[in-house]
Amino acid sequence: MLKIEDSPAASTLRTPDWYKTATRWTQLTFVEDDPQRYDPAFWVEVFKRTQSNAICLSAGGYIAYYPSEIPLHYVSKFIGDTDPFGTLVAEARRLDMHVMARVDPHAIHADAAEAHPEWVSLTADRRPREHWAMPGIFVTCAYSSYNFDFMTKVIVEIAQKYDIDALFGNRWQGHGVCYCKACEENFRDASGFDLPQTTTASDPVWQAWAAWRRTTLTKLVAHWDTEVKKVKPHASFIPNMSGSSLMEFDLSVIKKHCPILFVDHQGRRNVEPAWSAGRNGKRIRATFRDRPVGLITSIGPEEIPRWKDSVQTGPEIEQWIHAGITQGLFPWFTKFNACIPDDRWVQPTANAFKLHAKVEPVIGSMLPKAEIAIIDPATTLRHWDPDKRHLAELNDMGFYHALVEARLPFEFLSDQIMTVEELRRYKLVILANATYLSDAQCQALRDFVVEGGSVVAAHQTSLYDEKGAARADFGLADVFGVKMTSAPRANVRNSYVALNGSHPINAGFGTAQRIIGGTEDVAVEPTTSLETPFLKIPDFPDLPMEEVYPRQPPQGVGVAARTTEAGGRVVYIPWNIGEVFWTYMAEDQGRLIANAVKWALGKTPEVTVEGRGVFDVGLHEDEKGRALCLLNLTNPMMMKGPLRDTWPVGPLTATLEIPKGKKLKSVNLLVADEAVPFRISDDRVTVDISQIETMEVVHLAWE
Ligand SMILES: [Zn+2]
Repeated sequence: MLKIEDSPAASTLRTPDWYKTATRWTQLTFVEDDPQRYDPAFWVEVFKRTQSNAICLSAGGYIAYYPSEIPLHYVSKFIGDTDPFGTLVAEARRLDMHVMARVDPHAIHADAAEAHPEWVSLTADRRPREHWAMPGIFVTCAYSSYNFDFMTKVIVEIAQKYDIDALFGNRWQGHGVCYCKACEENFRDASGFDLPQTTTASDPVWQAWAAWRRTTLTKLVAHWDTEVKKVKPHASFIPNMSGSSLMEFDLSVIKKHCPILFVDHQGRRNVEPAWSAGRNGKRIRATFRDRPVGLITSIGPEEIPRWKDSVQTGPEIEQWIHAGITQGLFPWFTKFNACIPDDRWVQPTANAFKLHAKVEPVIGSMLPKAEIAIIDPATTLRHWDPDKRHLAELNDMGFYHALVEARLPFEFLSDQIMTVEELRRYKLVILANATYLSDAQCQALRDFVVEGGSVVAAHQTSLYDEKGAARADFGLADVFGVKMTSAPRANVRNSYVALNGSHPINAGFGTAQRIIGGTEDVAVEPTTSLETPFLKIPDFPDLPMEEVYPRQPPQGVGVAARTTEAGGRVVYIPWNIGEVFWTYMAEDQGRLIANAVKWALGKTPEVTVEGRGVFDVGLHEDEKGRALCLLNLTNPMMMKGPLRDTWPVGPLTATLEIPKGKKLKSVNLLVADEAVPFRISDDRVTVDISQIETMEVVHLAWE
C-alpha cells in the first residue's frame, strides 16, 4: 500500500505542475438543498473507491456554496452556518487530492438582474432573456461586465479563501448572440457591423461576430487566469471547452493559460457510436498534441430530456471511460446532486477508474503514435453555427468510422496548425471534405506531398478559401492531379461508380461491376497521368422503374489515384463518400475508403489486428515502449447506447512494428495483468490475445 507521501500527487501538490498528477477526477455539482441534506462521509468514501486524485467542486456563480461576502452573489438559502464547499475541500486535501473550484456564471437571480440590467443577455427583440429551463431567473451576457467585472470578484474571493489549484468555468462562453447595448457597441467598434440576424456560415456579419466572440472569450480567459494567479501563483483559471476542437479560441491564449484540457462530452446521445469519446479527445489533441486531456463522463444518461438526476447503465459508464483511455484521455466523472437516490453508478465508475489506475503507470507518460492523420477542418467548421456544425461533419464521421472498422490507429491534426513540420509527423493525411482552406494551408499540403507525403482527399476539399469565397478550381488541383469541369452538384439520386480494371482500391467487391456513388459530386478530369480504379456512370432516371438503366458506358473520374514523383501516393474521390458511408452505412463505401487509405499508405500498417469483432485502436509510445489499446466495440449497442452488457471477443492476433533501433524485452497485457508469449519476424512482433472483455492494453517494453 502506498503511503500518501509516496503518492505521485504528493510531489506536485500546490505547485505549478499540480495538473500533471491530476489524472482521475471526481466532480460534484451541488444542488441548492444539498447543504442541509448531503453526507460528506459518503463522498470521502467515493474519492477512495475511485482512487480519485483530484476533485472539481461547486463553489459559486449562479449559487455560492460557501459564505460569500460579495453583494448580489447569491448564497444557497440552505447554507445556514455551514460551508459545504470548504468542508469537502478540506477532506480532499486530507487525501492529498488536487482541488478545482467550479463556477457557473450563465444565470442570475431576479434581484441581481433588477439591480444590474446590463448583466442580462437580451434577445433579438431587445428583451431580457429569461432562462429557458427555469422561469424567473435570467441568462447573463457572457461578453461584457457581468463576466469581466462581477465574476472576476467571485473568482478572486474563492481563490483567496480556499486551498485550491484552479477554477473551472462552466457555461461561461454565452448562449449565442446577445443583443445588449454593450454587445451592440463593442461589436460595432470591432467590426463596423450591427449584430447578426442570421447564423449562416457564409454571412459576413455572422463570420465577423463569431470572430469577435472568439477574441472576447479569449480575453476573458486571459483576464480570469491573470487574476487567479495574482492570488495564487501556482493556480489557473481553466475554461470548459465543450466537446469539439479548440476552434472557439485564440490558440495563443490556450497555449499560455490552459496547461490541461477537458472534453465535455459526458456520454452518448441518441444514435452515437461508442468511439465518439475518443474522437473528441483526438480533436482537442489535434491542436495541442502533448497536453493532457480529460474526458468528462456523466454518471447519468445524456439525452435531450436531461434526466440529470438519474443513473446510466454500468456497462455504458465503463465503456465510455474506457473509450477515452484507449485514445489517451484520463477519466473524470461528474455527478449532480450530492444526495444519492440511486447509487448504481458507484461500482462501475470505481471499476473504470481502477482500470485507469492499473494502466496509468505505463500509458500515463506516453504520447499518441500514428502514421495516419485526419485533418480536422476547423477553418471550415468554425464558420458554422455550433448547433448546425454536425451537418458539416458528416464526411468526417464516415472516414472516422471506416478507419475504426479497418482497425487503423490514427490521430487528428487541426488545419489551424497545419504546417509542413506538423504534417511531417505522418505518412498519410486525410481530408474528408475540408472545403475551406487558405492558400497557405494548401501550400503546406503541397509541400508535404513534394517531400513524399501521401494524401487521401474527397469531395469539395479546397474548393473555397478560408473565408468561404469559391475558387475557380480546387486549391489543391495540382496535388489531386485533376481540374474541376463543372460546379458541384447536390441532391444527386441513383448515382453509381463502376469498377475499372484491377487495382488495390477496387479489390474485395466480389463480382460487382459497380457500387453506389455520391449524393453530391464534382465533375473533374485528369491533368496528369493517373489511374482511375472507379469511373462515374452518367446519370439515369430512378423512376418509372422501366427507365432505370444506364444509357452510357462508365466515363469520367470516379476515383483518381496517382503516385507522386517523390514516391508518395494521392487518392482523390470527387464525391461525398464519407457522408454516404456515414448516413447509409453502405458497406462498399467503407471498404472503398479503407482500400484507398491502405493503398495510399503504401506499406503494411504499423498495427494489424486479426480476429472477429469491431475495435477502436489506439497506439501510444514513449522512449521505453509502445502500448496498443484495444477497445471492444463488438456489441449490438455499438452505435446507440446505452450498453446493457459486454460481449467478450477473442482470440485475436495483433502485429506491431518494432521501431528501428529498439529491441523488444517483454510483452504484457496490462488489463489481464499477464506476460504473454510473442513471435518476432523481421521488424514486427506478433501477439495472441485469448479474450478481451471491454478493453486490453498490449504493452511492448524495449530492452
Ligand atoms: Zn451582451
